[in-house]
Amino acid sequence: MASIDLHFHSHASDGALPPAEVIARAAEREATLVALTDHDCTRGLADARAAAAAHGVDFLNGVEVSVTWNGKHTVHIVGLGIDPEHAALKAGLQSIRDGRVQRAQEMSDSLARIGIHGAFEGAMAVCENPEMVGRTHFARFLVNSGEVRDVRTVFRKYLTPGKPGYVPHEWARLADAVGWIVASGGMAVIAHPGRYDMGRTLIERLILDFKDAGGQGIEVASGSHSLDDMHKFALIAQRYGLLSSAGSDFHAPGEGGRDVGRTDDLPPICQPVWQALQERIIRAPRAA
Ligand code: AMP
Ligand code: MN
Ligand code: MN
Ligand code: MN
Repeated sequence: MASIDLHFHSHASDGALPPAEVIARAAEREATLVALTDHDCTRGLADARAAAAAHGVDFLNGVEVSVTWNGKHTVHIVGLGIDPEHAALKAGLQSIRDGRVQRAQEMSDSLARIGIHGAFEGAMAVCENPEMVGRTHFARFLVNSGEVRDVRTVFRKYLTPGKPGYVPHEWARLADAVGWIVASGGMAVIAHPGRYDMGRTLIERLILDFKDAGGQGIEVASGSHSLDDMHKFALIAQRYGLLSSAGSDFHAPGEGGRDVGRTDDLPPICQPVWQALQERIIRAPRAA
């Protein structure tokens, strides 16, 4: 287990914990370098940064941008070492958030058609940042109301393509998302590539488009990856000259997946992203 975690969420997006609590939890698990990467939103970063300094953990400002690539594929791009005050990045993220409440209303209408009522209100009730309402909040509503056993089951039966509650949505364009991240001084990283419903050819096309746009990294160690995925993407990173990242994708205690601060060590063939991000790392004061 490595002590570096460059992908996880707070309640500024669809995590369950406040930013300072997620960082405290990472520190308890002896993380030495972390990046908070909320979906399409940077408002948790200030609290997270302060908590990281207080706990002696080095910190990178991060974000996870929702993208629609090649017409229909939702792809997530992590930005590491970004400047959250950069105007183009801020405006771009705002434009993504703008569509979420309307989409949530449509998701709720879709669930109502199969007899599940009050989902919009129910999702909003468990959503700290209303403009970031998304599928995870609907999943928590469905679990809390006793409709579904757990969040995993929700995503098997609802909220995914072809299932009740799914509403297709057009997110940012890949070149725009990568462009905002890079313009703000950050590094763009393809999140959890093992999760995409794409064969080898499509993944390779995605990587080429991503590199053309200025992207440099890919998650090799991810809470969403099996060990096989990790080794497969380590080889892909090597072949395409991409830097390798590591992140738990932690959202909430008890929802499954990796805990924050828990990532696998990168295979030795990998070039870690953090070596290229040294000057973007916000160093914590160390106890003497
Ligand atoms: P949204 O951006 O509103 O479409 O929500 C996407 C979020 O839903 C992801 O970031 C995950 O947190 C969650 N999610 C999507 N698919 C699954 C899944 N199969 N299992 C658990 N969580 C999922
Ligand atoms: Mn999420
Ligand atoms: Mn993601
Ligand atoms: Mn994530």
